[in-house]
Amino acid sequence: MVIIMQPEATFEDIFEVVKSIEDAGLEAKIMEGAQQKIIGVIGDKTKLASVAIGAMNGVENIVSISKSYKLASREFHPQSTVIDIGGVKIGGDEPVIMAGPCAVESREQILETAEIVKKGGAKFLRGGAYKPRTSPYSFQGLEVEGLKYLAEAREKTGLKVVTEVTTVEGIAPVAEYADIMQIGARNMQNFGLLKEVGKCGKPVMLKRGLSATIDEWLNAAEYIINAGTPDVILCERGIRTFEVYTRNTLDLSAVAAIKHLSHLPIVVDPSHGTGKWRMIKPMAFAAIAAGADGLMMEVHPNPAKALSDGSQSLTAENYFELMDGVKKLSKLMREENLNPISE
Ligand code: PEP
Ligand code: MN
Repeated sequence: MVIIMQPEATFEDIFEVVKSIEDAGLEAKIMEGAQQKIIGVIGDKTKLASVAIGAMNGVENIVSISKSYKLASREFHPQSTVIDIGGVKIGGDEPVIMAGPCAVESREQILETAEIVKKGGAKFLRGGAYKPRTSPYSFQGLEVEGLKYLAEAREKTGLKVVTEVTTVEGIAPVAEYADIMQIGARNMQNFGLLKEVGKCGKPVMLKRGLSATIDEWLNAAEYIINAGTPDVILCERGIRTFEVYTRNTLDLSAVAAIKHLSHLPIVVDPSHGTGKWRMIKPMAFAAIAAGADGLMMEVHPNPAKALSDGSQSLTAENYFELMDGVKKLSKLMREENLNPISE
C-alpha cells in the first residue's frame, strides 16, 4: 500500500501518517515523488483497517499494491530511478557502458583492458575477482589481489569499478574496492547474500537468475532494497531455454517488462546473453533501442588467451566499433525523441 501525500502536505502531516502506520505495527518508507511525498507501507495492511488514513490531513490518495514486491514496483515509485555513482548517472538520458574482461587475470591484463575500455567511452570497468565457475577446476579468480588491480585501474583511468561478490564473507573486501557490487545470476536467489549486500550501503547490480521469472527477479531486488539499499540496477543476461546455439536466450522483452513493472534501471549483458562475440553488437544495439539504461559486456585484449569466456569477449577493435554504433544510436534516439518506454 502506498499513501500519496498532497503537494502542500506539511512535515507534521507526514509525521502523523508515519506515526499511525508505525503504531499499527507496520513499517513506513518515505519516498520523493515528482511533486509530492509518497509513503510506502510495508507489512500486513489489514492491521491498518481501523485507522482512517484517508481522512488524515495532507493525504491525497491511497493506492494498494497488488504485487509481492513493493519497493521495487513502479506503483510504489512512479518516477524512474536514476542512480548517481560519483557523477555517472545510471537510468538517466545516456546509456552507461560497463566493459572489461570476464575475470581479472593479472595486473597487466586489467590495466591494458581498462585503457581500451576507457578509450571506447565506457564509464565502468568490469572484471571478476571472485568467479562463480561451473567446474571447481576452472580458474576461480585472483580474489583480493584482483580487487587491488581493479582499484589501481580505477586510479589510472578514472573508470568506476563493478565486480562480483559471491559470498557473505566477500562483501567487506568487495565493498572496500567496488563502486557497484555485482550479484551474479547464480546467486540471484541467495537470499542470505541479498540481505547482507543490501546492508553494505553500496549500489548493487542484480543479474537475472539462469531460470528466474521477472517476478522472482523483482522479488530478489526487493530483498536488497528492503535491507537498506535503494540503489539497485537490474541486469538482463539471458535465460535458459531449449535453444543451445546460443549460451543463453537473451530476453530483451524483459527490458520493456521491467520498465513497466519497476522504477529500477536495467542494463543488458549481451556477452553472457549469447555466448558469442559476433552477436554482442546486434544485441547491444537492440537493447539500446528497447530502452535499456546501459550495457555490460566482456572485452579482452586477446580473447583467444582469456582464462574464461574468451568466445564472448570483444577485441579492442570490435569494442570500438560497437561503441561507435551505440553512441550514434543513442544520440539519434535522444535527438528524435525516440523513447520506447511509455510510462
Ligand atoms: C559475470 O558477469 O561475470 C558473470 C559471471 O555473469 P552471470 O552471473 O550473468 O553468469
Ligand atoms: Mn564471463
